[in-house]
Amino acid sequence: MCTRLAAAMVLVAASLLGVARGEAARIEGVRASADADAARVVVDLSAPSSYKLFTLDHPRRVVLDLADTTLGADVRLPRSEGAILAVRSGVRPGGALRLVIETSSDAEPRVARLAPSAEGGHRIVIELGDADAGAHTGSARVVTPVHAPKAGARDVVIAIDAGHGGKDPGAIGNRGTQEKDVVLDIARALAAQIDREPGMRAVLIRDGDYYIAHRERIRRARAAKADMFLSIHADALRDRDVAGASVYVLSERGATDEAARWLAERENAADLRGGVSLSDKSDVLATVLLDLSQSANISASMQAAERILDSFDGVVPVRKPRVQQAGFLVLKSPDIPSMLIETAYITNAADEKRLRSDAQQRKLAAAIVDGVQTYFTRNPPEGTRFAELRRLASAD
Ligand SMILES: [Zn+2]
Repeated sequence: MCTRLAAAMVLVAASLLGVARGEAARIEGVRASADADAARVVVDLSAPSSYKLFTLDHPRRVVLDLADTTLGADVRLPRSEGAILAVRSGVRPGGALRLVIETSSDAEPRVARLAPSAEGGHRIVIELGDADAGAHTGSARVVTPVHAPKAGARDVVIAIDAGHGGKDPGAIGNRGTQEKDVVLDIARALAAQIDREPGMRAVLIRDGDYYIAHRERIRRARAAKADMFLSIHADALRDRDVAGASVYVLSERGATDEAARWLAERENAADLRGGVSLSDKSDVLATVLLDLSQSANISASMQAAERILDSFDGVVPVRKPRVQQAGFLVLKSPDIPSMLIETAYITNAADEKRLRSDAQQRKLAAAIVDGVQTYFTRNPPEGTRFAELRRLASAD
């Protein structure tokens, strides 16, 4: 019994990033709904709140702890609805708010945090499938709740490019830290965290100490059908006082230079995403199509980079609070939102120390994951779990 009790406490999701931002959130509503296969609780929030979700047994409860959050004075907790038997709230030490959902469902709850969109503001959605649904029919078939992400919903693929490598050490710190080494550590931490998130999968462009040419890095990302390309670097300056992170996307000028090359080589070029081929188009049409793809891609890259900078706020020291634009070769995919993250200044003593620390590498990676997740929640690629969750949240 004891082991069962221990095993019943499952940490489903934890994110403590919001805490450091110091932004208190308020619960503005708690809604419950149910249909034949699943019940849902939607928590409407005034601001993003970091949360922990876990389950307890005897009786079965789903517990949502929201850090630094208060319950709005006029919020009424919902009554029993389907597998939801009761919803209670309480204040935890340290200012966290706890919502307890008593439930008749033994199934693992699913949880998603949604950023503001046309369908609503900041929300946390908890879905309780009915584990007993199959038992009623006397069969062992797995019952998929109608609102659950479809089994076929694909993961978004994040290509993670650790800069430099092999013969190219990148920048070197005063203590001898080599950029190629620390950015590989950060890339690996980032990949591990991404792979733990439902609906996301990481591909490491470089996973060892070897050099890869820039165009080959782009080619590998395209071959992996990446939805996003993150190039991880550390900056250097003679002025050792300069510190903090910066995020870059491709400049319009960089895109124009690249367009000329794509058009010249278009007989050999792969199709653009969405299957648009340039090789069978006239010069004029190919130029227009490529230009449209590049403009849309810079705009998507810019939005994604802004989400990453948002999630750095208060967590990772930032040198330039706005997204920078430059002609970096590695950002020149015309159709994969791409950014280059200068994570810190390896030439600054405090930054160099942070770059070498496992804990700081993980903290940085967590902030990047947070930003990427917010971006895909707001801009879900078709056919992905993010798109399904958005459909689910707007079905209320
Ligand atoms: Zn670099």
